[in-house]
Amino acid sequence: MAEKEVRLRRLKTASDIARFMADYYYELDEATKSRKRKIAWCTSVGPAEILKSMGFLTYFPETHSALIGTRKLAADFIPSANAIGYSPEVCSYLTSDIGAYVLGETPLAKAFPGIERIPGADVFVYNTNQCRDVQDWFSWYSEKFGAPLLGVETHRNVGKVTPAHVASIASQLENMIEPLERIAGQKFDIDELRNVVELSRQCSVLWEKCLATAAAVPAPLTFFDATTLMGPAVVGRGQQEVLGLYERLLEELSERIERGEGATGERERFRIYWEGMPVWGRLSMHAKLFSGLGAVVIASTYCSSWIFNALDPAAPFESMAKAYLELFIVRSEEYKERYIREKLAFFKCDGIVYHDAKTCPNNSNCRYGMVQRIESKTSIPALVINGDLNDMRLISDEQTRTNVEAFVEQLEEQ
Ligand code: SF4
Repeated sequence: MAEKEVRLRRLKTASDIARFMADYYYELDEATKSRKRKIAWCTSVGPAEILKSMGFLTYFPETHSALIGTRKLAADFIPSANAIGYSPEVCSYLTSDIGAYVLGETPLAKAFPGIERIPGADVFVYNTNQCRDVQDWFSWYSEKFGAPLLGVETHRNVGKVTPAHVASIASQLENMIEPLERIAGQKFDIDELRNVVELSRQCSVLWEKCLATAAAVPAPLTFFDATTLMGPAVVGRGQQEVLGLYERLLEELSERIERGEGATGERERFRIYWEGMPVWGRLSMHAKLFSGLGAVVIASTYCSSWIFNALDPAAPFESMAKAYLELFIVRSEEYKERYIREKLAFFKCDGIVYHDAKTCPNNSNCRYGMVQRIESKTSIPALVINGDLNDMRLISDEQTRTNVEAFVEQLEEQ
């Protein structure tokens, strides 16, 4: 039987966001060539506000890894990282990015004509709030580039975020200022930091509102759209121009709601929550697979990782410490379970899909009974997909299709 043709609806703002991302990489490339601006590499939920307030351009190598993933290049690059000692079991963002560097390759060259290499670096700044892999990743580059490495060591498995937790992270952030002043060649200005924190807060508020529109029935936004729309919230938070982008996106999503128009051309029979990393090399395939069955994946934990409710310009260091500690990925199992149950209710979900990403245990929350606990308390059916964020050798498309079809049948029976 011929496969059903599935229509995906592109948001107009997606083009503006793509342009913003292109400008972001071109600006980094120009700074790498001219050496007129200092560049700081930063982890995706690292202290970008401090770096931006001190005049650094910030480069987030996880976005480069995600580009490797979407271009399905990871399997070409990972063996080169394995050969220098990085196990095939560790984060495939790390192994594909380091492997690409070892081979002298980058997908930026194809995506953005004129760019030949990844950005240079004057400093590497990580936060272990998401995982330890980022520390190893940045350490490797720090040695290669001969540029200093600074980091925040974050508590893990945090239940309640206490003043003691916040104080310990805030002091680590403050301790970065002196070495960063030396690298930046300029004095730290607390008012500039307040300004950047406020812009970051506004970005977070707008991004949260955009994601929340998916609570409408039908949802105007899918998880798969959000994984690319979130680019500016990752790399551009703390910058004025991002606010206009998300205001326009929110307006466009609100218009869809007013018209009663869903995110895809298909009828929304079931609303699905995605827990875990996207499978970057299968975004479009998964979007079509689910939508074609009338099961629209409307929300996720992952895309909410760039919502920082605690940011407050009145207390920049403390509020950044709190914001980066309150993240889902840092928290205890009890907190995570409560969070997911709240999201399932808020987005009126009929089912939940957990992506068990082989090389990212940090973003795979289906390994210690969470699936069964949530299912027994909510009666919302769950499906676990085995795969990976970047290494497509770890995913079986046939198996995924069969499992998703069986899952939708189960939803129909319910
Ligand atoms: S959170 Fe997962 S995907 Fe992200 S850097 Fe860490 S191990 Fe890699």
